[in-house]
Amino acid sequence: MGNGTRRYIGRFAPSPTGPLHAGSLVAALASWLDARAHGGTWLVRMEDIDQPRCVPGAGDTILSQLAACGLHPDQPVVWQSQRTALCQQALALLQAQQWVYPCTCSRKDILTALQTLGQAPARHEERVYPGTCRPISAPPKLNPSAKHPTWRFNTTAYVSTHQLQLVHWEDRWLGPQQQNVTEAVGDFALQRSDAYFTYQLAVVVDDSQQGVTHVVRGADLADNTARQILLQQALNLPTPQYLHTPLVLGEDGAKLSKQNGATALDTSDPLKLLKTAAQTLGLQTEALANTTSLHDWLHAAVLQWTARFGHNIMSDKI
Ligand code: GLU
Ligand code: ZN
Repeated sequence: MGNGTRRYIGRFAPSPTGPLHAGSLVAALASWLDARAHGGTWLVRMEDIDQPRCVPGAGDTILSQLAACGLHPDQPVVWQSQRTALCQQALALLQAQQWVYPCTCSRKDILTALQTLGQAPARHEERVYPGTCRPISAPPKLNPSAKHPTWRFNTTAYVSTHQLQLVHWEDRWLGPQQQNVTEAVGDFALQRSDAYFTYQLAVVVDDSQQGVTHVVRGADLADNTARQILLQQALNLPTPQYLHTPLVLGEDGAKLSKQNGATALDTSDPLKLLKTAAQTLGLQTEALANTTSLHDWLHAAVLQWTARFGHNIMSDKI
């Protein structure tokens, strides 16, 4: 690696709620290509933190589907559910700095409060927490015999203290992005009342703990990025670079779901699957048509990705 080349660590972080489908393969392939194009390390992290939503065996299925496509992680796979101590530490840090507060509102309480404010969400719209339990001045007293609270990030206080009303980032695919987190999501949850840590906290903790420098994932997650940047700042962690890939849409034009085509991929013909994923990523698949082995196809795809997105360590050697 030449002088001044930053170490690159990327990752694919599926939730094992089902097998790999056409959409998740796009994210897997893009993150792998980007890591290879930068001469970097590619990690796979199983985001099985939301245990009630996980399907037994799905994680192993995903790993064997990836392997069938020639996508092999460079280090042992990490399972997020085994790392809740790290989330607990991060939450404790935020508690000590009073950037979080306990909330005992039920979903119904939140809806009622929003209705009272004339802000009832439309169907499928994200509910912006109305701030019912947000402490006004003194830190809230916890009643130890009460049920486990939801711990919420005090977005409202954090962004006003740090002049971060608009969080900006430069997305490597989408270009300049910004979000007003207070308006878009409000004080979001870091730990739920059933004691599970949320995706927002776990992803920030694990990305930093694993030294991830580049996040490549599907565009359905783009609007989580600003929340994650706020948490990184509150925890004094570096912000990685982000690239959000185009989504694979079902035949009805809607986001892929089990109902409209998010079926498990049949990996008996991995090249065919990779070609479809490459098309979504805008690669020139005709130029890749002549390659017949998985290895050669992936190599040619790395060269194309490199021409578009980055430094190619291989070009130093050729
Ligand atoms: N586990 C998340 C998902 O599958 C993705 C996390 C990420 O890439 O940040 O939706
Ligand atoms: Zn509340």
